[in-house]
Amino acid sequence: MTINQQQIDFDAEHIWHPYTNLSQPTPTFSVESAEGVYLHLTNGQKVIDGMSSWWSTIHGYNHPKLNEAIIQQVSKMSHVMFGGLTHEPAISLCQKLVDITHPNLDKVFLADSGSISVEVALKMALQYWYSNTKLSEQKRKQKTKFLTIKNGYHGDTFAAMSVCDPVNGMHSMFEGVLQKHLFVEAPSCRNDADWQASDIEEFKNCIDENVDQIAAVILEPIVQGAGGMRIYCPEFLRQVRKLCDQHGVLLIFDEIATGFGRTGKLFAYEHAGVCPDILCVGKALTGGTMSLAATLCTETISSTISSFEGGNLMHGPTFMGNPLACAVANASLELLQNSNWQSQVNSIESQLENELAECAQLESVADVRVIGAIGVIELKQAVDMHVIQPRLVELGVWIRPFGKLLYIMPPYIINPAELTKLTDAMKTITLEAC
Ligand SMILES: *Cc1c(COP(=O)(O)O)cnc(C)c1O
Repeated sequence: MTINQQQIDFDAEHIWHPYTNLSQPTPTFSVESAEGVYLHLTNGQKVIDGMSSWWSTIHGYNHPKLNEAIIQQVSKMSHVMFGGLTHEPAISLCQKLVDITHPNLDKVFLADSGSISVEVALKMALQYWYSNTKLSEQKRKQKTKFLTIKNGYHGDTFAAMSVCDPVNGMHSMFEGVLQKHLFVEAPSCRNDADWQASDIEEFKNCIDENVDQIAAVILEPIVQGAGGMRIYCPEFLRQVRKLCDQHGVLLIFDEIATGFGRTGKLFAYEHAGVCPDILCVGKALTGGTMSLAATLCTETISSTISSFEGGNLMHGPTFMGNPLACAVANASLELLQNSNWQSQVNSIESQLENELAECAQLESVADVRVIGAIGVIELKQAVDMHVIQPRLVELGVWIRPFGKLLYIMPPYIINPAELTKLTDAMKTITLEAC
């Protein structure tokens, strides 16, 4: 059944969309169905999705293999609790995650969203120190701070929010409720050739001075997503790993946006050749079909937590290990492994570099950056979403800018002509902003 005007009005009146104002909602567009890289809007228009529905739909929409996995699983069971019960889809998925990530990462916690996987990662780090009987009781209980870099994004729940960028993570609005953690400037060098030792100095000083309080460092490796769409060099991660090891601080990588091939490597940490102690994955895990995330950690962390007093990791959501989500995640990972994602992402990268480069000269542009299947134009002024969003749809594309950032991360299956349509729309908007 297709949507009617009354329903559209109800939406505007009653339904919160992500980060929206219910009194002056920005326009929403109703989607009837989706196929490949296209969203089919109710008004009959077809738009090319440049967002992969926020990093997730890497294989495109309505993929027969993903649909089939859900149908097969739904006919057996949609859900059973994970407390005291287990099932094949969860076990297969965790085996795959252990296989494809760094050999040190071999324990898996299944979470229901990215933010929750970050909560679990932070909790694991806190519990690790709380349980670490090599330290005196006083020292163990002091290790409750996290160190991170500015411009990060780790989710919208409170602990995740407390390690998001202090300005665009709205810390001032939640002052007094949010825990205060340690922030240093994000590195400014984009590749190893430009590495400056000064890029690690503030981080080094901060970890030196606060080591007794720091439980863990948390970072998005190589690409900072929603906090600024910034790209930074692998050397920074190698330096961070070294400092964490020297100081006995845990390292958490949030690969919820970057995981599963997006930056040209299966995981972004591979660019640096370093392994975290705790890893969060989500978004593309189910190929954009259902909400699922996971937190992986090392044997050292799990055994330390488990050998102390009760030994339980204190988290357990109702829909943990949901069989439908696990089944479709298994299918998505199989699709990825049997695809030529590496050459797809490489071609997207070269095409984005070629087609976006000329925008760097434009009056309205502050910066252009590309890595893997991610293309970003940073404008000098923030765009007006009330105007830009309908304009982009008119241009036949689904791109959702925020602030000064006009960016895309399309499904890997996009073809060159479709990708050109996205970059042309970005150029048009950029020119119109001049
Ligand atoms: C999207 C995102 C999250 C939060 O994931 P949700 O599933 O939206 O809760 C956390 N970290 C990063 C890097 C993300 O991109």
